Amino acid sequence: MKTIPLTPPDNSPISRSLLDCSPQELTDFVNALGPRPKRANGKAAGVPTYRIRQIQEWIYKKYARSFEEMTNLPQALRDSLAAKATLTPLQPVTQRVSKAGDTQKVLFQMPDGETVEAVLMLYDRRRTLCISSQAGCAMGCTFCATAQGGLRRNLTAGEIVAQVLFFARYLSEAGEGPKMRVKRPTTVTNIVLMGMGEPMHNYDNVWTAIRRLTAADGFGLGARHITLSTVGLIPMIDRMSDEGLQVNLAVSLHAPNNPLRSKLVPLSRRYPVDDLLASVRRYIAKTNRRVTFEYALMRGTNDSPALAEDLADKLRGILCHVNLIPLNPIPDSSFQPTSDRDTQRFAEILQKGGISATVRIRRGIEIDAGCGQLRNAAEA
Ligand code: SAH
Repeated sequence: MKTIPLTPPDNSPISRSLLDCSPQELTDFVNALGPRPKRANGKAAGVPTYRIRQIQEWIYKKYARSFEEMTNLPQALRDSLAAKATLTPLQPVTQRVSKAGDTQKVLFQMPDGETVEAVLMLYDRRRTLCISSQAGCAMGCTFCATAQGGLRRNLTAGEIVAQVLFFARYLSEAGEGPKMRVKRPTTVTNIVLMGMGEPMHNYDNVWTAIRRLTAADGFGLGARHITLSTVGLIPMIDRMSDEGLQVNLAVSLHAPNNPLRSKLVPLSRRYPVDDLLASVRRYIAKTNRRVTFEYALMRGTNDSPALAEDLADKLRGILCHVNLIPLNPIPDSSFQPTSDRDTQRFAEILQKGGISATVRIRRGIEIDAGCGQLRNAAEA
């Protein structure tokens, strides 16, 4: 991968990351920036609310990367914002586009030097963004590259949102950045939290980010266009069912029984398959929303016809869809992908058993942008 030299981050430790601010925090921050005219009662007048709205629009609708771009703000306000705040917590370090021009992976560096990746995928009518929720991951799934380096740290809500704004800006600009097979300007249509990290292990920041991404005065994407994928932290699945947003839930199952699943997903020792499925049933009862189960097919491990039958039996009666993922190759791993024929056979057994199932299209393999391949340590 070609490494683009890193520009010095424009955020010093004292500067405030505006992407980490709620609308109220943004208002307070802007009000505290400088002397304000005094009202008759001697108190300083607040910054007018339309100014706050303008700043929000520059951030979330026009994807501004600098305060200088905010041309409808007074120059003095732009200057004091530039001196005290930052808009871009992520610096793109490398950008790669697949040969077919349908997948772009970007490695971002954060102010403390940690790195994360996000991937843009083009489909017929969708521009789907796969974003990260943590630098690294603590879950230790044995077939996943991100797990190999362990957890580095949680991303802040602003760092999660910034991944989206970066690609939203790319898609909004006709000529800027690497070329892909897409007619720009256009927009991000879908977001999946399937990059690095376990979103339920960084629950609060992830949900703050989701609220900002769905808020009308934020990024404004419909909640139904966002999917959160989890390895199955049961208490957090219960918590998600009370969030009141129509965000989709995907559960990485990968095996129908606990002894096998525990070998692939160590968390299954703490939250066994049957308990996990019970929590999914509770989630559906509360939300009435269909859940997706992800199942990465590994040759000779979890891909036999008997296991497909077992899976169909386990899932019968649950409002769900199974997404079969051909395993993506990762370094230092003995797991091999299932053949196309056996993948089809597995899908057919599920379908015959009354379970809706499809095989996920492979994307970005040669640029290491496939599921479970995001591992910045190898590339940074
Ligand atoms: N931690 C979350 C989200 C990130 S992983 C989760 O586990 O769901 C997104 C999906 O990629 C998960 O279903 C994960 O199991 C899957 N995955 C991980 N490594 C993979 C690999 N090498 N090949 C295919 N899918 C993989």
